[in-house]
Amino acid sequence: MSAIMTQLLLKPGKERSLFRRHPWIFEGAVERLDGRARLGDTVDVVDASGRRLARAAWSPQSKIRARVWSFNPDETIDDAFFKRRVSAAVGRRLAMPQLAGQEGMRLLHGESDGLPGVIADRYGDTICLQLTAAGADKWRKAIVGALVAATGVARIYERSDSDVRKLEGLEPVTGWLHGDAPAEALSIDENGVRLGVDVVAGHKTGFYLDQRANRLLTRALASGKSVLNCFCYTGGFSLQALAGGAASVLSIDSSGPALASARNNLALNPQLDASRAEWLEADVFEALRTFRKENRSFDLIVLDPPKFAPSAAHAERAARAYKDINLMGFRLLNPGGYLMTYSCSGGIGPELFQKIVAGAAVDAHRDARVLERLSAGPDHPVALHFPEGEYLKGLLIQAD
Ligand code: SAH
Repeated sequence: MSAIMTQLLLKPGKERSLFRRHPWIFEGAVERLDGRARLGDTVDVVDASGRRLARAAWSPQSKIRARVWSFNPDETIDDAFFKRRVSAAVGRRLAMPQLAGQEGMRLLHGESDGLPGVIADRYGDTICLQLTAAGADKWRKAIVGALVAATGVARIYERSDSDVRKLEGLEPVTGWLHGDAPAEALSIDENGVRLGVDVVAGHKTGFYLDQRANRLLTRALASGKSVLNCFCYTGGFSLQALAGGAASVLSIDSSGPALASARNNLALNPQLDASRAEWLEADVFEALRTFRKENRSFDLIVLDPPKFAPSAAHAERAARAYKDINLMGFRLLNPGGYLMTYSCSGGIGPELFQKIVAGAAVDAHRDARVLERLSAGPDHPVALHFPEGEYLKGLLIQAD
């Protein structure tokens, strides 16, 4: 028998989102805490009529006051729980034919894998782990143990330096949790292209695995085309475009270190024609305006900007920024050209994003159609009860 657990008592009616299996319990839903709990401790979630509904991690400083580990109120949250959840998540990926043979793969996608606040990206023999919530932080050791057991990886690096930790009252944490820093630079093969991954100093966990399938689509469309890759980071889309036989690939990023990595990535791929690649360190907003003045145009344009709207509160300003770059994208697109445009902002839903892009086409006086709706791959599942998990949305558009 387990000891009596601290109870998080919900206000009347606030149990409804839990019945829909949404894992977040907001500040306004909490009547009170019966008992004591420290940051990240497991509490029993109880509705106003006294029914036990779930077990959740307590996060007293965050607006998301608790995150549900299990909707079975009797499930013990212990090392074995994390072993079960992690091995289920890893097993899901192994069963997906689209992911077979991929060296780079997201293994744990937070809430959508039943592990709120836990992100784990695998790059060959190394996993980069990011813990963004109090409960996840508390169970670090169990999660690491479960990942090692499920994958046998040689190394795990923790990259818990995301700003969202501040909202939980957590300090940044980085460092090797399992194994030591590798002697050689880390890289992965992504569909025939070698890409370096810097888990220590790169963005997020080092690399944007979520665009893998979309980079492959770029490659399929690139043959003979003049390609413009905006916000190129380490050149993933650029290199796949070259692999697809692009006539030219111009890539823009405002980060010097990102472009240095991109050049290095190109050098890792002697099979690609480096003479077709050009790298430009610039602000995309300014560069696109300059191109317009110079009457330049392209057959395929990729717009993969950073998160303009981290939350719904930033949606309006973000919408203007998306509109702006897409408008310029349409203006620079040759007749019949392709625009691959993305938003990774949680605060901008797919419908709003499409509306913004449609508005941009109108302003650019271009007739255009969506050929495909794009998202992250199956290593970034979206739990049906957690629509917030669908942060990346993209459109493959062809303009007349
Ligand atoms: N498409 C990339 C990921 C893009 S991440 C991939 O497939 O890997 C967003 C990138 O935008 C970052 O590299 C960041 O340095 C860059 N960035 C952010 N604001 C920018 C701006 N105003 N102009 C140019 N680049 C910018």
